Amino acid sequence: MTYIIALDGPSGSGKSTIAEKLAEKLGIEYLNTGSMYRAVTKYFLDRGIKEDNIENINKSLEDIKLSLVGGEIFLNGVDVSKELRSDNVTKNVSWVSANKNVRENLVHLQREIAKNTSFILDGRDIGTVVFPNAKYKFYLTASPRVRAMRRFEQNESNLSLDELEKAIIARDEYDSTRKISPLRKADDAILIDNSEMNIQETIDAIISKVDE
Ligand code: C5P
Repeated sequence: MTYIIALDGPSGSGKSTIAEKLAEKLGIEYLNTGSMYRAVTKYFLDRGIKEDNIENINKSLEDIKLSLVGGEIFLNGVDVSKELRSDNVTKNVSWVSANKNVRENLVHLQREIAKNTSFILDGRDIGTVVFPNAKYKFYLTASPRVRAMRRFEQNESNLSLDELEKAIIARDEYDSTRKISPLRKADDAILIDNSEMNIQETIDAIISKVDE
């Protein structure tokens, strides 16, 4: 029997690192759904497509082919994983992911990818929308300051710690107040605040729940 683990939460809660390690430990597949929204954002940015250009957005969606190859997201056959975490993509991903057609396309693809295999998916709406019947659901969070610190230490951004914290709070606000599939803990998800936990402690907490 295959099963799904839904791992949702805000930026910097450690979801992707934890999901990747958990997948390895449990011998299942991993899908980082944030990378999919980031890949679509990169596609729009590369072509100068803006938020209000609805017609162009809808038309472009037909030309965007995303695939999961060796755990990485490929955009039209090209590995773009290294280019998805730039400040520009991060700044624009929220308006892209608030678009109804973008979400419909990506949610459909996520369900297809995880159809016949055990998967852990990390994102914002996995437990609420994509796989509401997932066998295991977790909602990971931590204080904005701790999350900003983690991003700062990853050294992927040119922003200062204070700027990162502000950007994180702004993205949380945008993601959790958007009309479609807002960031929200599913009622039946287990809440883990890992502000004072490291990666291994968070993984152990999740595994102990899965073992139960
Ligand atoms: O997880 P990550 O920070 O890479 O996600 C980037 C953005 O993609 C989020 O801020 C959110 O706007 C969007 N997202 C989403 N639904 C998901 C995953 C990500 O809306 N399932």
